[in-house]
Amino acid sequence: MRRKLLLGNWKMNKLVSEARDFALASKPLVGTALKNNIDLGVAPTYLSLDTVKKNADKGMIVAAQNVHFNDHGAFTGEISISMLKELGIDWCLIGHSERREYDNETNEKCNLKIKALIANDMVPVYCCGESLSTFEAGNTKAFVSEQIRVGLRDLTAADVKNLVVAYEPIWSIGTGKNASAEIAQDICSFIRSILKEMFGNVANDIRILYGGSVKPENVKAYLSCPDVDGALVGGASLKIDSYEGLLTNIL
Ligand code: PEP
Repeated sequence: MRRKLLLGNWKMNKLVSEARDFALASKPLVGTALKNNIDLGVAPTYLSLDTVKKNADKGMIVAAQNVHFNDHGAFTGEISISMLKELGIDWCLIGHSERREYDNETNEKCNLKIKALIANDMVPVYCCGESLSTFEAGNTKAFVSEQIRVGLRDLTAADVKNLVVAYEPIWSIGTGKNASAEIAQDICSFIRSILKEMFGNVANDIRILYGGSVKPENVKAYLSCPDVDGALVGGASLKIDSYEGLLTNIL
């Protein structure tokens, strides 16, 4: 059975001091979540990773928001996998639509990063999702299929067993205009069918999250869908009350 997963993406928010306060305040939530077969996590900025890791409950997943695929070298401004691992960070978002839009994160580059993470026993959370114009043109499935096929190429079933995929339609991120639960289920189930084609039955163990304007009020509708195993949450993961509401409403 796939465990549910609630993962907060803090993007470029929170000072280290604010991240520490959140980590401390989140401590009691993790035990409740784990008892109910739910994993909880957050993806802070690089600067706050160490503080969150040290101050949150040990069961809290702490993910980076990006990483370079090379281990070291002349890549000014970048961070390597071994730097994350030294801090005990073993999860990382890859291919978030904001990085695809502003930082030239292509499917090919995501593939290099995902392969490097898996080779280092880390868990990639591979983000995919279409723009409003692609959605309106009815091309969502072709677009997402390409993201999955290229992003995950050259990997084996054993490689992807811990992978997490997040379906995030760009038109629903930070807009308050969330995709319906029916759309989320349709595309998440489609993604699972591609994963099955590529990797076989291990696809039944891969967690697929929905992301895009998820809030305490709508989280249950998404997580009630058979192929939606959790949520990647931006805005509503920033305040501890709202983060707690996301958990409480799916217990
Ligand atoms: C995200 O950044 O991944 C996201 C889904 O943001 P929001 O929940 O704010 O739409």
